Amino acid sequence: MSDHVLSRIPILQGAVAGDCEILHDSNDARFQQRLARWTDIDRKVPAAIVLPRTENDCLKTVQWALKSNIPFVPKSGGHSPWSTIGSEGIIIDLSLYSEVRVDAGARTATVIGGVLAKEVSVRLAEAGFFTALGNGNSVGAIPYLLGGGGSITNSITGFGSDQIVAARIITAKGELVEVTEGTHPDLLWALKGAGQFFGLVTQLTVRAHPLSLLRKQQGLIWVGAFIFPLDRAVEVARVMKQIMDDPEHATAGLMMVIAPPPARVPSLVISARYTGDEAPGVPFKALYDLQPTATMGRDLPIQNVNDEREALCAKGDFKRFGIVGLHEFRIDGFVQAIEVWKKLIHECPDAINSAFNLQWDSRAVKTPEKESAMSSHDVRYWQVNIIWHTDEKNRRKVDKYNDECVALMRGPDETRYIDFQNATRTGPIQRRYRGEARLKKLRQLKREWDPQGVFTRQLLDID
Ligand SMILES: Cc1cc2nc3c(=O)[nH]c(=O)nc-3n(C[C@H](O)[C@H](O)[C@H](O)COP(=O)(O)OP(=O)(O)OC[C@H]3O[C@@H](n4cnc5c(N)ncnc54)[C@H](O)[C@@H]3O)c2cc1C
Repeated sequence: MSDHVLSRIPILQGAVAGDCEILHDSNDARFQQRLARWTDIDRKVPAAIVLPRTENDCLKTVQWALKSNIPFVPKSGGHSPWSTIGSEGIIIDLSLYSEVRVDAGARTATVIGGVLAKEVSVRLAEAGFFTALGNGNSVGAIPYLLGGGGSITNSITGFGSDQIVAARIITAKGELVEVTEGTHPDLLWALKGAGQFFGLVTQLTVRAHPLSLLRKQQGLIWVGAFIFPLDRAVEVARVMKQIMDDPEHATAGLMMVIAPPPARVPSLVISARYTGDEAPGVPFKALYDLQPTATMGRDLPIQNVNDEREALCAKGDFKRFGIVGLHEFRIDGFVQAIEVWKKLIHECPDAINSAFNLQWDSRAVKTPEKESAMSSHDVRYWQVNIIWHTDEKNRRKVDKYNDECVALMRGPDETRYIDFQNATRTGPIQRRYRGEARLKKLRQLKREWDPQGVFTRQLLDID
């Protein structure tokens, strides 16, 4: 199948600038290096990897692919399971086309191409700002923002997708379109939460918020951990439920069932964040009173809060998220899920890095000025399982335990199930885009902008 692609490469070479690399020898070390992904699940080998350095070369590459009938996927940080394609197609790897421009006067930042989240937060902080970004430094900023974008600052900023004020997008017709509230309000609405299905987004302009909105008016976040043995789960969960439901203090974080390195002792780790001004002993007093096995914590500039989670961004192995929105935190479900995690680790020792995590924010997500494709503003709790194992033959078994955990946390009422588009593309789509009118509008816009499913068949097929 790659013969067709390879036969067309000279035409592409003639269309793009000389510094636009086109890798098509799969044995080449640079090809292999570019193929590395956050997860090896479903990893495929394309006929070629194109590395544009400019918006114009992105455009030329898409136009060439459309004209040549060659399927393609854009890739930014490569942290999803989706930016991979077999020998019938190509990857448009945006990592060499990457920039952030901050406009302090307008309080916006323009994120360009394959720029990674860490770069965005550092550039913004240098100018005195921050925006909603997620938990992974090397996640691509544009896909993160297009796919909803959960963040520890959701209660201050809204979701990542709520930050989007304008976009430049290469459409399924191979046209470069400027998307603003004035030019294409409906497409802008769709990009905010479903943007990965409408085109290759070359640039996004997003809101920038002053660092003074964070802790001590200095752009700080208190980052801490409270570690307990797993057999204290019930008493810890009871205390956590009160903390999670106390909007007086701006706390957020993960309650993790995990065997952290190096000791690998199964533990309950409260990985906590606090953006308020008081000493952490105030919002987390009840946790300190439980006398954890260990506690740690310090103030960090917002652009550094993910640095200690760098290991989670490593490429390779079989990794995926199991993320679902929850309407409430049920202690009984959580305690049963711990037993499932124990079984997982016992039966699949190669999954020792896997963690079942309950994510909370004590405050509601900030209501956006305008509604959008993103539909989870009512959600303060998420089950965020990190599934990570090394032995391919355990693939199904590991997934089965994740499913069991998710079922326990969600409870039996399927009509209330919520999925997260940055984590999954399977399952009923109405769980990711909730509300009949929203889904109807999204489907209609998809038919208008991408009727052939160039940018996936999501929203075209009835699922
Ligand atoms: C360690 C880690 C932490 C994470 N934390 C969070 C979090 O806190 N909150 C959250 O919401 N999500 C989080 N995620 C999920 C992450 O935001 C999504 O998986 C995101 O899509 C990954 O973007 P990427 O550029 O790294 O991946 P990629 O695989 O490069 O891209 C993701 C998808 O977007 C498409 N795409 C890439 N570039 C473009 C573009 N320019 N225009 C249009 N489509 C494009 C790709 O084809 C693919 O389908 C996390 C993921 C990881 C691995």
